[in-house]
Amino acid sequence: MVYISKRIRSLNSSPTIAMAERARELRASGKDIIGLSSGEPDFDTPQHIRVAAAEAMERGETRYTDVAGTPALRDAVIRKFSRENGLSFDRNQIIVGTGAKQLIFNALVATLDEGDEVIVPAPYWVSYPDMVHLAGGVCVVADCTTREDLKLTADILRDVITPRTRWLILNSPNNPTGAVYSRDELADLAALLLEHPAINIMSDDIYEHIRFEDTPFATLAQVEPGLADRILTINGVSKAYAMTGWRIGFAGGPADLVGAMVKIQSQTTSNATSIAQAAAVVALDGPQDCVEDGRRVFERRRDLVMNIFAGANRIKSCRPAGAFYMLVDCRDLIGGSAEGSGHFADDEMLVRFFLENANVALVAGSAFGIPGFFRMSCAAGDDVLREAANRIVKASWLIS
Ligand code: PLP
Repeated sequence: MVYISKRIRSLNSSPTIAMAERARELRASGKDIIGLSSGEPDFDTPQHIRVAAAEAMERGETRYTDVAGTPALRDAVIRKFSRENGLSFDRNQIIVGTGAKQLIFNALVATLDEGDEVIVPAPYWVSYPDMVHLAGGVCVVADCTTREDLKLTADILRDVITPRTRWLILNSPNNPTGAVYSRDELADLAALLLEHPAINIMSDDIYEHIRFEDTPFATLAQVEPGLADRILTINGVSKAYAMTGWRIGFAGGPADLVGAMVKIQSQTTSNATSIAQAAAVVALDGPQDCVEDGRRVFERRRDLVMNIFAGANRIKSCRPAGAFYMLVDCRDLIGGSAEGSGHFADDEMLVRFFLENANVALVAGSAFGIPGFFRMSCAAGDDVLREAANRIVKASWLIS
């Protein structure tokens, strides 16, 4: 048997991917499963972006590119940060990677020594804690789950800062809560962070464009320029342009950090796919109505699902201001039981029950650091979402 390192043995597989695989298996066995466990827009990549990729291929843009990304894409990213976020970067402060996910990981690998701490506010995106672990760091959870808005405050943050804190990871709009931090909320955090010059901040803005009811977007580097030399602002094309499979993320930050990330990339992936980079230039520089079209669809779906859950008396949906997930409080059902399914001791058992009895694949809140909840992705057609939400409500009535 091949020896697997201790670090990898203690690494969790992504629970969202595991649930998506289980749903696929059940579907293959003939069950009518609605898979709402993973987070990707269900739209096709807009045509003008697909055409740009085909044209890049025809032009022969099929070779290795600069490790940090093609000059054309890095310049498009500089324009994007300037136009949409009021941030100004030089080319050596920009890196393009194989999705935002890879850039987050590269940044951690570039900066963490064994035992360095990374503060991750809970609820969190499932991958942060394991990426920290993989990079040799220690994930310190800042528990925001008892707050109504599920957001990090300066008081919560202050309590978890230690001399070993190397990073704080912020994510707004948030996966899984849909919470969007206001400029004032970020300014409060910034005031505390200014007192702690050894802490870097990763601002994961991947859901920037998916916000509802005109909720404004703010990012930390814009709110507090005094922190700019310690902030890595991360974004990408996956969610805004329905380009999850193209694997293009980008980040802007201090040149020394970006340089270290480029070095890691040079020894691992070399560069993000040349053709996808060419397509991403057109996504960022081209017409933006596709972004607004997607946003509007997600807002409509949020309302649709919220309305159905409003008719349930023992599950309660949080109201997301952005992203495309619904975090649902099912604490009232925990401790209950259903005929033939036994007793539900936790959210994972409940999610299994919804999979077996409602044929809907969800993810347990525990995976996001918020036990007693589940997350439902709203990245599916209206009819599918309506059917799934109704099935969940109906199944919840079976629990006493
Ligand atoms: N950050 C968050 C909060 C996410 O939810 C995701 C994807 O689900 C990512 C980053 C990764 O995005 P990408 O497709 O660019 O790797």
